[in-house]
Amino acid sequence: TREVHLVSRPRGWPEPADFALVERELPAPGDGEVLVRNRFMSVDPYMRGRMNDVKSYVPPFGLNEAMTGGAIGEVVESRSPGLEPGDLVLHDLGWREHAVAPAKRFRAVRPIDGVPPSAYLGVLGMPGLTAYVGLLDIAGLKEGDTVFVSGAAGAVGSLVGQIARLRGAARVIGSAGSDEKVAYLTDRLGFDAVNYRSGPVRRLLAEAAPDGIDVYFDNVGGDHLEAAIEAFNDHGRAAICGAISQYNATEPQATPRNLALVIGKRLTLRGFIVSDHSARFGDFVREVGGWLAEGRIEFDETVFEGLDHAVDAFLAMLRGRNTGKMIVRL
Ligand code: NDP
Repeated sequence: TREVHLVSRPRGWPEPADFALVERELPAPGDGEVLVRNRFMSVDPYMRGRMNDVKSYVPPFGLNEAMTGGAIGEVVESRSPGLEPGDLVLHDLGWREHAVAPAKRFRAVRPIDGVPPSAYLGVLGMPGLTAYVGLLDIAGLKEGDTVFVSGAAGAVGSLVGQIARLRGAARVIGSAGSDEKVAYLTDRLGFDAVNYRSGPVRRLLAEAAPDGIDVYFDNVGGDHLEAAIEAFNDHGRAAICGAISQYNATEPQATPRNLALVIGKRLTLRGFIVSDHSARFGDFVREVGGWLAEGRIEFDETVFEGLDHAVDAFLAMLRGRNTGKMIVRL
């Protein structure tokens, strides 16, 4: 079986040479263990942070060992009463073709009609819960709000804007990095949208939201956050979810330069980590799962094929080659 190791810690942008595809003997599952054949694995922005040897809310990846991450697989052999061959399971032993581990590492999930199992890594999984909790609990979305979301064509952002619309936002303005993505946002998702590569975000946002914004869902940081602070109405609320524009930076960034506006405008900028909010998973699945079943939520995936292309998928995601969730099919 094969797995992907981190072999050197990237400084700045990661390169293919920082990773190695390693062949190894598949161990037989011991008592209480399960052997799973992975079908889909996730590549996520937070994994970039785990490649650095720094203290954070998740420990760094070890060198010369398989990386971890969200995956969906099928039980092949089980030596635990709770799981049977053929069961679909969600777990965190991605970046490998097979996983052998104690049964408690795996959570059985039900296949859903018309929805691919990979949805558990996106719209019905961690990114989906991030969008739900960030928008509703952290930013406190209210009916009639004007919402700005960056990374709007990605896994989290595309759902943020759709939940905002379904929950009564007056307008959703999304930002993304290409004209194709802008067309996707306006034509498929019904947002207003700007291409941040076509001019300064500050100007683009001021033009798109002449009456200001009330909520900002930040996936990007940097000049997007600065533009949002500029555009905020009084008592505006931001969910600070990610800062992908800075994940490969080698120096601390000097934005937002206009932070002092937080005072006069009485703004709330609030960071959060989704794993602290698992108690909301049931509400999330009921509400978003319901919309999904009714066909009221669009979700897209960009799929790369095979573990040989997992690193390519990760690097392509960092560069914005994905629309919706970036997935690797194994
Ligand atoms: P996405 O599916 O949004 O993929 C990443 C996207 O980031 C790319 O498609 C690209 O789109 C965009 N991007 C890359 N570089 C830049 C840049 N310099 N400026 C603006 N946009 C850029 O990823 P996710 O939906 O999985 O994650 C989105 C954000 O949410 C990330 O910041 C992630 O770290 C964060 N996150 C936080 C969690 C938490 O608990 N706080 C949990 C999950 C995710 P484009 O073509 O538009 O540039």
